[in-house]
Amino acid sequence: MTQTGQPVLRFAPSPTGFLHIGGARTALFNWLYARHTGGKFLLRIEDTDRQRSTPEAIAAILDGLNWLGLNWDGEPLYQFARARRHQAIAEQLLAEGKAYRCYATAQELEEMRARQRAEGKPMRYDGRWRDRDPSEAPAEAPFVIRLKAQQSGETIVHDLVQGDVRFANENLDDMILLRSDGTPTYMLAVVVDDFDMDITHIIRGDDHLNNAARQLQLIQAMDWPVPVYGHLPLIHGPDGAKLSKRHGALAVDAYREMGYLPEAMRNYLLRLGWSHGDDETISTEQAIGWFNLENIGRSPARFDFKKLDNLNAHYIRATGDETMVQEVTALLGRRQPAVILDDVARSRLLLLMPALRERAKTLVELADGADFLFREGAPELTPEAAKILAEGGGTVLAKLVPQLAVQEWTAKGLETAARAFAEGAGMKLGQVAQPLRAALTGRTTSPPVFDVLVALGQKEALSRLGARAAANTKN
Ligand code: GLU
Repeated sequence: MTQTGQPVLRFAPSPTGFLHIGGARTALFNWLYARHTGGKFLLRIEDTDRQRSTPEAIAAILDGLNWLGLNWDGEPLYQFARARRHQAIAEQLLAEGKAYRCYATAQELEEMRARQRAEGKPMRYDGRWRDRDPSEAPAEAPFVIRLKAQQSGETIVHDLVQGDVRFANENLDDMILLRSDGTPTYMLAVVVDDFDMDITHIIRGDDHLNNAARQLQLIQAMDWPVPVYGHLPLIHGPDGAKLSKRHGALAVDAYREMGYLPEAMRNYLLRLGWSHGDDETISTEQAIGWFNLENIGRSPARFDFKKLDNLNAHYIRATGDETMVQEVTALLGRRQPAVILDDVARSRLLLLMPALRERAKTLVELADGADFLFREGAPELTPEAAKILAEGGGTVLAKLVPQLAVQEWTAKGLETAARAFAEGAGMKLGQVAQPLRAALTGRTTSPPVFDVLVALGQKEALSRLGARAAANTKN
């Protein structure tokens, strides 16, 4: 371990569920600190819970990190594959007299706990095999290996976020390192892996703060270097209560499907528990330049969809047209049922993107607002749009269309023609624009209608207008 070299950080998810928002923030902070310092960001999949770890969850975690752009260095390390190494460390501690075999049966332990409960004492292992001579061990009986932990004094976690957190050693019992079937416990695996991976900084949720005290005891027993700890306060809902699904406790891919951009997610997650003055909009480059461990907040962050929406709207406006078309195309392609955009639809989308992006908070909103571009023919009408066309709009179109047809097909040219037409007919521009919009988009709101005409192209636009004019001027 080289404490003097560059920092080495890790993200260590358990693939028993998907990558949720709290995990994504932990990953982001580790990634940012590694990128800020020129250090490393490693990925460790903690797949030792064989029952609950699934390949689907592993795939979803990797996919979520990739989508967020949190690239890790080297290959992911799989914890379960390292069980022998974990066992070897337990054996070493045993040989050094820093661990011992405990033969207490399940029934004995149950009785011990029942007694402690009855006496109102905290329930913990009482060390009954700690000092017994191994020769007293029952022959062939199963045993676990426990750490011979310090019994007095205190263990102090020097935490960059939480300050010094003190644990009385008498409250930390002799934890199990190897189970009776020889499998390593989570505590043992984490400490050994962090050492072998040369981890210098451990940034994770504060639900692991108690574990840190126990892990420290093990680190000390091995005489290994102590990493820098930073335990992040959990993310709460907007009401201050535990984060619920409705308030954002979702898997990362749910955010992708709701139409958030990875840049917006990174910015938002960064602000959930880290600050740089009053800055809200922080690009990834700025975040890498500024990120530090000192500015991690000490109180729980609150999840707020409004802020996320605002940031997303910002990044939607800041992203190039071509990239936005790709994002929307990909989103629609993943939908059920999938919408596959052909070249015509994509080029219309590209043309209208500058106008569309101004209005959208999410890619979903943007895609829905652009729906009328994706199919040929006059789109279905909302009741309001139908009303506009039926109550005089169709007649306006019947007169206007022949004039538009001879115009140069640019937003400017078309607007000039429409204005001239309105003036001649003693109407306001809006009275002309509304039926145009209704016929072209099927709705009463859309991007500027002259941009819509251009995006659809002359042929398609005239055909939609002609169809609606004919349908609304028959009687
Ligand atoms: N695997 C643990 C979890 O997903 C994290 C362990 C750690 O970061 O030390 O909560």
